[in-house]
Amino acid sequence: MVGAGLSGAVIGRHLAEAGHKITVLDSRDHIGGNCHTARDAETGVMVHVYGPHIFHTDDAEVWGYVNGFESFLPYKNRVKTTSLDPEGRRGVFSLPVNLHTINQFFGKTLRPEEAHEFITEEQADISITDPQTFEEQALRFVGRDLYEAFFKGYTIKQWGVAPSALPASILKRLPVRFNYDDNYFFHKYQGMPENGYTAMIEKILDHPGITVKLETVFDQSQAADYDHVFYSGPLDGYFDYQLGRLGYRTLDFERFTHQGDYQGCAVMNYGEEAVPYTRITEHKHFAPWENHDGSVCYREFSRAATPEDIPYYPIRQVEEKALLGEYVALAEQAEGVTFVGRLGTYRYLDMDVTIREALDTARGFLAAQENRAPVPAFFVAPL
Ligand SMILES: Cc1cc2nc3c(=O)[nH]c(=O)nc-3n(C[C@H](O)[C@H](O)[C@H](O)COP(=O)(O)OP(=O)(O)OC[C@H]3O[C@@H](n4cnc5c(N)ncnc54)[C@H](O)[C@@H]3O)c2cc1C
Repeated sequence: MVGAGLSGAVIGRHLAEAGHKITVLDSRDHIGGNCHTARDAETGVMVHVYGPHIFHTDDAEVWGYVNGFESFLPYKNRVKTTSLDPEGRRGVFSLPVNLHTINQFFGKTLRPEEAHEFITEEQADISITDPQTFEEQALRFVGRDLYEAFFKGYTIKQWGVAPSALPASILKRLPVRFNYDDNYFFHKYQGMPENGYTAMIEKILDHPGITVKLETVFDQSQAADYDHVFYSGPLDGYFDYQLGRLGYRTLDFERFTHQGDYQGCAVMNYGEEAVPYTRITEHKHFAPWENHDGSVCYREFSRAATPEDIPYYPIRQVEEKALLGEYVALAEQAEGVTFVGRLGTYRYLDMDVTIREALDTARGFLAAQENRAPVPAFFVAPL
């Protein structure tokens, strides 16, 4: 397994239980991949080192799987945003945009039907009949005021592109709730691992058939040492970037500490383009069952990844998809390797989807072996 994140851990565990001898390599000095959590030395707070991670899923098998390794405590993700109201005053609003946001933002006391009528008849720009871009789609759905306060600046900062350059398909339906539900996710199961994600992944990897080697970089030349390689590193990296680099956004985190409670919630977004960061995460609010006097926060900045940076979000615009197609063709010719996970398939994957795909991949591999069938380069097509 190249990578000791969720993909490598879950596939490795499943195959180890089936009797295989597994070696898990990771170039980092810790397991857990991007879900890694660690206690902050100064405050004792459990920190989501590579950005905030909330576990949410509708997949009962995956929920049962994670709970088999770590106890998950109830946690609802309720995000706030600081932005400018229609008069240009700074305020704190509820996200995703819901009835509370609308009433606060426009200084109204609307009921659900009234709010729906207000947004669709007074705010939405119905002169846009065939929206082509993200911007046009947002203006068509919610109108200029909400768009500028809650969608425009954040999108520009997060993706480094104007919403007028992004496709309309990003916003498929009206992104507004006409009730007071501010639970960020709709999923049936939601929670936080009591001792962090790394503790959970450590238990997944804890099997006599698994050996973990950290600070060990894998390259293609080592593939011959193993019967089969499951590669959860970057797809283009496996081929030494010979066709060019797939585009990613990376994140910079600026750590600061505070005595007491800095912002009163785990995640505060910043909608204004003039504020250079996208959000501030105050990690202790992810573990409300713990008590800490001190607090540690991360200001999060997003920018295009250079070769030296950690790749976070795949960009997947037209150009990247064309290059991805070329790498997929190369991968399909390679033997003895299966590309998995968010980097191996160049897709944004939530943790539950990563686990689902990892379980399916491990089962698919075992079935292929039993049937003496070839093992595919991808169990899930990246395109
Ligand atoms: C900012 C951010 C926030 C997120 N928030 C959420 C959330 O709230 N909820 C949710 O469900 N999901 C969230 N996710 C998604 C989650 O991080 C992924 O689902 C998960 O990390 C995917 O696991 P993985 O094993 O596929 O990849 P990774 O975690 O990236 O693991 C891959 C590992 O491979 C190693 N590696 C790569 N190349 C090599 C090599 N050549 N040699 C050795 N090792 C190598 C890397 O060091 C890394 O440790 C978030 C992601 C990001 C970026």
